[in-house]
Amino acid sequence: MRKPIQVTQSSMPELNEYIEEIKELWNSRWLTNMGVKHKELESQLIKYLNVNNITLFTNGHLALEFIIAALGLTGEVITTPFTFASTTHAIVRNGLKPVFCDINQDDYTIDVNKIEGLITEKTTAIIPVHVYGNICNVEKIEQIAKKHNLKVIYDAAHTFGVKVNGQGVGSFGDASMFSFHATKVFNTIEGGAVTYNDPSLKSVLNNLKNFGITGLETVEYIGSNAKMNEFQAAMGICNLRHVDEEIAKRKIVVERYIANLKGLIGIKLSEVQEGVKSNYAYFPVVFEGYKKTRDEVFEQLRAHNIMARKYFYPLTNSFECYKGEYNVEDTPVAKYIAERVLTLPLYADLSLEDVDRICEKIKEIRGKRCERNYPRRWKGNKALSNDEGSIKAVTTNI
Ligand SMILES: *Cc1c(COP(=O)(O)O)cnc(C)c1O
Repeated sequence: MRKPIQVTQSSMPELNEYIEEIKELWNSRWLTNMGVKHKELESQLIKYLNVNNITLFTNGHLALEFIIAALGLTGEVITTPFTFASTTHAIVRNGLKPVFCDINQDDYTIDVNKIEGLITEKTTAIIPVHVYGNICNVEKIEQIAKKHNLKVIYDAAHTFGVKVNGQGVGSFGDASMFSFHATKVFNTIEGGAVTYNDPSLKSVLNNLKNFGITGLETVEYIGSNAKMNEFQAAMGICNLRHVDEEIAKRKIVVERYIANLKGLIGIKLSEVQEGVKSNYAYFPVVFEGYKKTRDEVFEQLRAHNIMARKYFYPLTNSFECYKGEYNVEDTPVAKYIAERVLTLPLYADLSLEDVDRICEKIKEIRGKRCERNYPRRWKGNKALSNDEGSIKAVTTNI
């Protein structure tokens, strides 16, 4: 049997490059607590991400927990359930109540038309997610936040390096959280950061991630410990040198997927949004009226040693640990997408032959020759009837 194709594979520098980078740590014996590598990575990332301020953390989740604490949020926070466990847990672990807003059908980000209906006198913030690299409607969110005096923190874990009309995605809202986990486009093994516009947050975040220690003999905050160590930062410095090349390789993989799957009835692909420079982080496919269900496709790919991922499934508002607290029926679009979406294997070194094989398996699963939509110039925008009996104007978005 062939080697399994995992859903992702971590980017790593050549071993010797990393060894060179960490050599001086053997001289300095300074392994953590904001050393030279930590400082260097911060200044490099400010430039690369095109942001005003950054604070590094040991992982993305704690970065989010701490920016929520640093902004002094209270009461209720509007967010979406179509995300990784981290976003919702970070709100709850700060003693706040998540209020779940539904998502858009097409880009899976927060539905801005449903936010205002959820605002109460207890609401202090909105925490939207840039899902799969799709950017939220940042202008509208800013408008709503200004009108109701709310803070905005973006979960930007999926959008490392993404630019919107030339602007770094981390510069929107009050703050953004990035994840540098091993599975992300850019990694520091584990790691993360907060980017923000108000420079006075810097000392607060730095103190919170180091036990609230503000001086040799003063501890001003009930802080915790979430510092990025020098080995993580060194990995980041190495990976950052190659990240543009990695993103370019991801783009080729994505284009191959699109060439294979575009136009297949019952398969909905994502579109790169206008003005967005993508990082090609994920390749989500929504099985909507396909001959087989998402779960059947998932299982059959697994049977061929191809590890796709039900991402995001289940919704955070249906987690065991939140049983009885939320109703998934309040977010029907999120529920619909979570039941139908699969992210396919994607990483810089995934071979095009493997991409073709994965797509062949998806097509084979249908059990008969795959039908294609006619190009638009022949059939115009004519509605197609899908297998569930409902009418969809266009089943493919690319
Ligand atoms: C990865 C991820 C996180 C958490 O980041 P870690 O670095 O793993 O702690 C949070 N939100 C989303 C959407 C993610 O994908």
